[in-house]
Amino acid sequence: MLQMAHIPTRSSERTESHPIIIAGGPCATFNPEPMAEFIDAFVVGDAEPVLPGLIDLLRDTTENTRDQRLRSMSELAGVYVPHYPRDVTRAVYKDDTGAVSDILAEDAEFGKARLVEIARGCGRRCRFCVAGHIGRPVRWMQLGKSQEDRDNSERQGLVGAAVFDHPDAVDYCSSIYAHGGTFTLSSIRLETLNDNTCELLKSAGVRTITIAPEAGSERLRKVLNKEVSNELILSTADMVSNAGVPKFRMYFMIGLPTETDADVEEIVHLTEMIYKSHPEMKIGISVSSFVPKPFTPFQWHPMESPQTLKRRYAIVRNGVSGMRNVEFGGESPRLAYVQGLLARGDRDFAGMIESAAISGDYTSAIRETGIDLQKYIYRQRTEDEYLPWDIIDMRISKEYLWREYQMAIQGIPSGPCKLESCRACGACSETE
Ligand code: SF4
Repeated sequence: MLQMAHIPTRSSERTESHPIIIAGGPCATFNPEPMAEFIDAFVVGDAEPVLPGLIDLLRDTTENTRDQRLRSMSELAGVYVPHYPRDVTRAVYKDDTGAVSDILAEDAEFGKARLVEIARGCGRRCRFCVAGHIGRPVRWMQLGKSQEDRDNSERQGLVGAAVFDHPDAVDYCSSIYAHGGTFTLSSIRLETLNDNTCELLKSAGVRTITIAPEAGSERLRKVLNKEVSNELILSTADMVSNAGVPKFRMYFMIGLPTETDADVEEIVHLTEMIYKSHPEMKIGISVSSFVPKPFTPFQWHPMESPQTLKRRYAIVRNGVSGMRNVEFGGESPRLAYVQGLLARGDRDFAGMIESAAISGDYTSAIRETGIDLQKYIYRQRTEDEYLPWDIIDMRISKEYLWREYQMAIQGIPSGPCKLESCRACGACSETE
């Protein structure tokens, strides 16, 4: 984008005539360091508390030099300016008015669906999930508050990490349907699916219900703190089939901490059980490679080797290949290590990213710039090691993450957030 706009890619090469490049959002900020040479400033966390001050500052300092403005920006809470590094604390939005999209266009990703934010954060505490850690605590939006002038007769896309976890989500969906509208949901926890919710989804025209068991075995799901039994998955498949929803899709990861080939074979076994019970139902199996992400308990854990990832991917692909009506998909593990690098890297990555942006070929860019894969993704990090992303205070304590990591390795789950009484990770006390 910068090249197409004729803006120098490196922040240090921009002059007074160039705009200030600001990035935000979870993907850009859970570890900003690999992009630090390209971005003038990052907004870390929720934009609402930061933008008014940032906009005022930019408006009031047009006479200042670019460098003076960047220095001033670096003093704002929630703003990280790589040229003036300092510890930055994630900004947190404390209101309960969710964002609603106002520009609807047929050609947009979500077409004419109006996106309605129903929650920020997630209280389920899945140990692999970066979104669930950097958005804590979960905050429910008041449904209907930001849409007072609308009549619920349109198509809405409800956005949240686990939509039916919202205490009013089912009623809200029913009301949309009763007013002649339809809806889609970004993500659902399988514990919140029941005959009523499946029926509601079917009535709203949902043609695929997707759940994410993540791992094939119950043992490994305990490691992930995603305690879902095989029995619950099988009964959910029954409900989906009974409701007449044509397709049931399941997401899995391979390369998870403590995983063995036997855990992966369980994915095939589980699929087979569902297939045998519902031979008429379309089943989708999606497999991706696990990347240990910053600000999760697995941030110290090494990524699985490409050979093992490829072997386990093949176990699932070959295992389900003979099952008619089972569609296998997912990401080939061939380039999973690139995701690992981008998630876990530091400022030394600038040359590699620049080279890959020009050639479109990450593999060559990594080789040519001599990025040490062992150093960044394939080694166990120690508890006291300084991590590239430690410059950001995500309001989640490192001691808590390490404790969760040790429990994960021992296969001990810790359950979901208990918002009233828990102060375990620090996010609730810090945002009170
Ligand atoms: S302090 Fe406890 S309840 Fe609050 S976000 Fe952290 S783990 Fe969840």
